[in-house]
Amino acid sequence: IKFSDLALDPRVLQAVAEAGYETPTPIQAQAIPHALEGKDVLGIAQTGTGKTASFVLPMITLLGKGRARARMPRSLVLAPTRELAAQVAENFETYAKHTKLTKALLIGGVAFGEQDKLIDRGVDVLIATPGRLLDHFERGKLLLQGVQIMVVDEADRMLDMGFIPDIEKIFSLTPFTRQTFFYSATMAPEIERITNTFLSAAVKIEV
Ligand code: AMP
Repeated sequence: IKFSDLALDPRVLQAVAEAGYETPTPIQAQAIPHALEGKDVLGIAQTGTGKTASFVLPMITLLGKGRARARMPRSLVLAPTRELAAQVAENFETYAKHTKLTKALLIGGVAFGEQDKLIDRGVDVLIATPGRLLDHFERGKLLLQGVQIMVVDEADRMLDMGFIPDIEKIFSLTPFTRQTFFYSATMAPEIERITNTFLSAAVKIEV
């Protein structure tokens, strides 16, 4: 199987080719077709498996079908640390470079000003750590009712860091009808409970 066998947006396929990737990794080959069909995906995968592209590529494809630069964010990616969120943002830039989709990286340790400006201007994708996302929300800066696709990356680390209540709160702020991609290296009971509560008929992929 090649990337071109997957029903990805041609602009995404071009960016993937330019990045030098020809063959999808197992998590990509398995997750992308289900994601493109609109299904929730539960990915049991470690870092290094290519899991980031397994949600970023279908996300760009699905968003690309709608209007670019919506006033409200249409997609939200949560990562446990600033570094991981920044890596997801870099991946998004790489794969979305031939589209007009826009993003904001919302992480702690930096001033709110620049992040506020991006939010006010209107972005398609928010890539955030849970604490900073809720900070923006509580400051009345952010509306999440437009979120159609939500990604939780490295949920097992979120659990270790005590972020599960934040994740539950954020889930509850997004529409019930959203599509969810949820990734964890392990399935602790607390993680299992969250997926049972917030995912719907998810396709489970273990690599
Ligand atoms: P990740 O598991 O998302 O952190 O990705 C691990 C590494 O694999 C990153 O450096 C990616 O750039 C790289 N990568 C992602 N997809 C592919 C692919 N299909 N073929 C080769 N390398 C890839």
